[in-house]
Amino acid sequence: MNIAVVGSGFSGIAVAHALAARGVNVTILDVGEMLDVRRASIVAKLRDLPTNAWPPEDFRLLDENPTLGRHMLPKKVHFGSEYIYANDRSFAPTISGSSKRLPYPTFAKAGYSNIWGAAVLAPDSCDTTDWPVSRSEMEPYYREAAKLIPLSGGEGTLDAAFPAYKDRLGDIDPGPQGSALLQDMRRVSARLSEHGILYGRARLAIHTEDAPGALACNGCGFCFTGCVRGSIFSTEPLLDELVKNKRATYQAGAFVESLDETDGGVRITTVDTATGARREIMFDGVFLAAGPINTTRILLRSKKLFDHVVTLKESQKFVVPILRYKADDTAIEHPSVTMASVFIEAKFKDVSDHWTHIQVIPMNALMLKGMPVPGIRSKAGQLFGKPLLRRLMAAWCGMHSDQSSSVELRLLVPDASGRSTLEIDVRRSESARAAARRVARNLFREGLSFNSVFMYPAIQFSEPGSGTHCGSSFPMRERPNDLLDTDTLGRPFGWSRVFAVDASVLPSIPGTTLAFSAMANACRIGALAPLEELASTT
Ligand SMILES: Cc1cc2nc3c(=O)[nH]c(=O)nc-3n(C[C@H](O)[C@H](O)[C@H](O)COP(=O)(O)OP(=O)(O)OC[C@H]3O[C@@H](n4cnc5c(N)ncnc54)[C@H](O)[C@@H]3O)c2cc1C
Ligand code: SF4
Repeated sequence: MNIAVVGSGFSGIAVAHALAARGVNVTILDVGEMLDVRRASIVAKLRDLPTNAWPPEDFRLLDENPTLGRHMLPKKVHFGSEYIYANDRSFAPTISGSSKRLPYPTFAKAGYSNIWGAAVLAPDSCDTTDWPVSRSEMEPYYREAAKLIPLSGGEGTLDAAFPAYKDRLGDIDPGPQGSALLQDMRRVSARLSEHGILYGRARLAIHTEDAPGALACNGCGFCFTGCVRGSIFSTEPLLDELVKNKRATYQAGAFVESLDETDGGVRITTVDTATGARREIMFDGVFLAAGPINTTRILLRSKKLFDHVVTLKESQKFVVPILRYKADDTAIEHPSVTMASVFIEAKFKDVSDHWTHIQVIPMNALMLKGMPVPGIRSKAGQLFGKPLLRRLMAAWCGMHSDQSSSVELRLLVPDASGRSTLEIDVRRSESARAAARRVARNLFREGLSFNSVFMYPAIQFSEPGSGTHCGSSFPMRERPNDLLDTDTLGRPFGWSRVFAVDASVLPSIPGTTLAFSAMANACRIGALAPLEELASTT
């Protein structure tokens, strides 16, 4: 059987695995951009060197972040390179309908798994009521997805609503600030549960043991620079394994422009990203995992839905600084994982019936670099600012899409060369921001019980769709009704051979993390797709 998967990120590798388990070897079509050779060779050189042996000029290059100072909240880049964000490409022209920061897609090999925050939490059932697949139906696939990733975490009360779907969790040091926060929350654990707040060590997809293509985390603390050891889970080693074991063939440099389902198969039109040459290839079936923005782009182009505005739901993100009563060593002084130390899940009745997801991040080098405090980065500033820095943490919060802003996409009519430009715009919602402010004020009230002042007046909002925490453009429905509805296997337009498997088909976007749900749903579609009906006629 001749099956294509488009994309090599979380959802692409998850569906490729599910199909491989059914004996189907897929062809993975991918734009597959990679880190430049200079940076990649430095990453390889530093991989198993202790940090004190890293040449300073090498570290400086990997630690560059051109987005610092450009926005209120800096963006994470890939070892100093912004290539990871596909803002515009000759084969995929993209324009912005707004001057602000947009949720750009990625064309990277392994997608955003190269730079993600490794936060993993499956949503509670109250956050997926509009999905046509219940949480109990999803559970086997969360377990399948969990087999593909490492997961650390433990303690606290998270399990009451958020099972880990993995029997053994790795042990990661939450650092002095994180440990102290956990201790303070433990003291008032019962009260917090009564008030709708669960907490625990952050659930992170970080290798705590050596694995193929990855070394165990050594707590070096440079997570925001990028992990030279490959300890932060990325799909690239899984892709390499699939190819090595001849379970998949990988074709990079192929931009999938459109699909055309015929009686006998699916004709894919690709553009060679180096030469611009178009090519048509026939497959028996296609699984689209190009990320929510690019999958939407492909489907709009395939159905010639030009100038049609499509709304993507998103999870409104915002940051609230936390001032702790007691000072503890920061992640700069005591190197430890800087992604998130603690997860807090809060359901506040005066806000909504949905959970707000809160990742608490210790004070680290990137936060220090981004702080708008004159002189704080100088030696003297750090010395005199130490009592303050040791009390500061950041709460990175995400709300359900019912209470969030949105992203709009519009594919323009193709130009003379046949290329269509994608216009990306955002719709900021004042009610979403008001809900976020209410959450922040509630956190302030509750935080006092665990020695933490959530400084709600200093709240900062991310632009809609940041980190592509968006989707729902082709929502799965029990009975597809609308032009863009898909069936429960993510098939659009009444087609039978094309399956969209990424977040574009999730009917709503929970505040809890997104990649794990996209993986689980991709595993589900890969396991249930009626392959026998795709029998080859090509
Ligand atoms: C900085 C950052 C931090 C994040 N942190 C977290 C986190 O902690 N937890 C979490 O759950 N989520 C996080 N996310 C979001 C998460 O990364 C995305 O939800 C996830 O990457 C989506 O996975 P995907 O496989 O569907 O798509 P992507 O990761 O976007 O991958 C898309 C793939 O498709 C390929 N592709 C795209 N278009 C085409 C085309 N037309 N033809 C051929 N190939 C194509 C790309 O090359 C790539 O391989 C974060 C995102 C960012 C940017
Ligand atoms: S602390 Fe972060 S960067 Fe360092 S090894 Fe662990 S995951 Fe990688």
